[in-house]
Amino acid sequence: MSPILLVFIDSFPFDYLNHAPFLSSLANSWRVIPGFGYSSTCQVELLSGLTPDSLGYFGEWVYNPADAPFRKWHSPLQTLSVTRHIYYLDRVLHKILQRISGIGIKNIPLSYLSYFSSPYVSVFDKRFPHSSIPNLPRVKGVCSYDYSSLPVEKVDTAVYERAKQCIANIPENHHLFVSMTKLDHVGHWNGVDSPEYRQKVAELDQWVEDLYVRFLKRFPEGELVVISDHGMVNVKQLVTLELEKVFGKVRPDTYTYFLDGTLLRIWSDQPHLINNMVDYLSNLQIGVSLTTNERNAFGLTRPSCGNIIFVLNESVMFVPSFWGGRSSKGMHGYHPLISSQHGILLSSTALFPDFTSIEELRAPQIFQGLHSIMTV
Ligand SMILES: [Zn+2]
Repeated sequence: MSPILLVFIDSFPFDYLNHAPFLSSLANSWRVIPGFGYSSTCQVELLSGLTPDSLGYFGEWVYNPADAPFRKWHSPLQTLSVTRHIYYLDRVLHKILQRISGIGIKNIPLSYLSYFSSPYVSVFDKRFPHSSIPNLPRVKGVCSYDYSSLPVEKVDTAVYERAKQCIANIPENHHLFVSMTKLDHVGHWNGVDSPEYRQKVAELDQWVEDLYVRFLKRFPEGELVVISDHGMVNVKQLVTLELEKVFGKVRPDTYTYFLDGTLLRIWSDQPHLINNMVDYLSNLQIGVSLTTNERNAFGLTRPSCGNIIFVLNESVMFVPSFWGGRSSKGMHGYHPLISSQHGILLSSTALFPDFTSIEELRAPQIFQGLHSIMTV
């Protein structure tokens, strides 16, 4: 087997490859069609091959009133929720609750907190309970996840420096997995193609080339594979959604919802209400509710994923959302078939013969391809 240097770049859009001279010079490239949603499931699909149906959840937070960590705080949280429209007071209360509970509660309204739990374990976490590329037996890893205590601007640099050391010391018959995540951050807060974004892409391009040159010195037969989980696009329209004004108060016996930046999940066991909500959302002309065929195709058939999954049109964003109160300059999490949402799979030589006649790949296929070349 040839040793493989596998580099994961969070959020590198296929459509931005022409700004990265080294990466775009690699022999083979494919568009990666992500799953719906965000890193919590997109990275899992790419690196462990599991769709939300097989993973057992969709999204970082899920509707789970019977086992929600804040279920015993339901009454006081309802009382405290009167602060929702006093921005700074609400932020302070969220921060206090976050500190007391040790749970990252983002911007979830206090009155809804007792309905949700977060089963999410990062695929980069040693506790991730399924087989994955990072936890294969002959894979050594350097992941930004392990440097999350550093300020965000220092994480990728620390990974790069550590990766150089690993290349010098990695045992024979092993592969090296390197994960860098700051491009996602720069894309969200500075926007795609901003000066900061161009600089970050140029830096990553040089770093990956340097790591591969070092890897080849150590292993002349070494191969390079570069992957990303999804793309990114600039936000152009903000939408404030207030379902309560149309459908009344959220209650488990009527409906509950979770609002991410580009995605809305609604749970209800009332078919009539579900139909009314789908019609209401459709009339807003800002996005689409997933069809049964789409849910089947992307492994989102469980009702626990949401009785309605509504995704915004490209470049539209919910503000505020349960994720935060501010808008981002760049976002992902739109429909996976939109080209701006596509990630990358690149390889230094024809490592994936099964993919040669295909231009686009779904994330779980890539896991299968990586798994087969990294376990021989
Ligand atoms: Zn992101």
